[in-house]
Amino acid sequence: MPQNQKKKNTKKKSTKKSSGGALMPSLLATMVIVVAILASYFVYITYLKEPEPEITIPEGSAVVHYIDVGQGDATLIVAPTGETMLIDAGERGDAAEYLDKLGIETLDYLVFTHYDFDHIGGGDEVLELCEVKNVLASDYEPHNKTGKTLHTLIEDEGANFLHPDKGDTFTLGDIQFEVLTKALTESNKHSDENENSIIMMMTFGETKFLFTGDAEKKREAEIIDSYGKKLDADVYKAGHHGADNASSAELMALVTPDYGVFSCGVGNKYDHPRQGAVDRVAKYAETILRTDLHGDVLITTDGEALAYQTEKTTDKDPLIGLKVVYAILPEKAYVAA
Ligand SMILES: [Zn+2]
Ligand SMILES: [Zn+2]
Repeated sequence: MPQNQKKKNTKKKSTKKSSGGALMPSLLATMVIVVAILASYFVYITYLKEPEPEITIPEGSAVVHYIDVGQGDATLIVAPTGETMLIDAGERGDAAEYLDKLGIETLDYLVFTHYDFDHIGGGDEVLELCEVKNVLASDYEPHNKTGKTLHTLIEDEGANFLHPDKGDTFTLGDIQFEVLTKALTESNKHSDENENSIIMMMTFGETKFLFTGDAEKKREAEIIDSYGKKLDADVYKAGHHGADNASSAELMALVTPDYGVFSCGVGNKYDHPRQGAVDRVAKYAETILRTDLHGDVLITTDGEALAYQTEKTTDKDPLIGLKVVYAILPEKAYVAA
């Protein structure tokens, strides 16, 4: 939250009673007034006039928004040319609220990595708010009522309902997405819903972002075997909110991310992210960003360099130690011009 410095009323009551008294008290009073004015001016220039940190998203940049949806996932990708993809929709209305704030009314792609509530719960509101052209999700009967309702809503929306298979690619302007996991149906899905997560690699210019949903060991093994060193990425969104069974050492040794992003809720009951997971990511990633600490996390790239901004500041990650993160986002700067 931006630290709104409330302008303090500088109480400068006129002490000019001009009783024609002694010179000294009147001089003293004048000095007090002058000091008060100077002090309040100092406060003014120091706090109030401090310019809002400007976020300049250079033209031609892709922006990846790891939206703070509490315990859950919702990641918005905006291409330089304005196309949009939302990967997961969080549990409640936060994702829709965020899209609404940005004035996004159309989604080119809406991806549901798997059918757990913390990824699809906010799906109905997103579908209500936006015109969705394509939905990517697995082709099996969801295990929960929300998932079943979601299938109906997708049908009603009239979106293309696609069930991506390993090797399938999608484009969002100049951004490419490749699906790294095989399509699942009733016959080959895992009993653990997290292991059904669709994993995608995003490539923009020379930069790569890996999205693994809530994949854990089994699903990670699938991509490790198939892709090996091709899993190298700049930004890794930690699997399953930083659960200990995700972000294995084997996977991290291949991804070797520069940035690790954890999407989890403040004080969540699962104790995500777990220290072990954070350590395995931080072995490579110099920058760890967490939605529970930083709020919305944005990573921008022009295809070569990467930069990040966060909604909140924190100077301390309890799991990593000191890490100063700054830059508060003004509301309107979230989307590339
Ligand atoms: Zn989840
Ligand atoms: Zn899950």
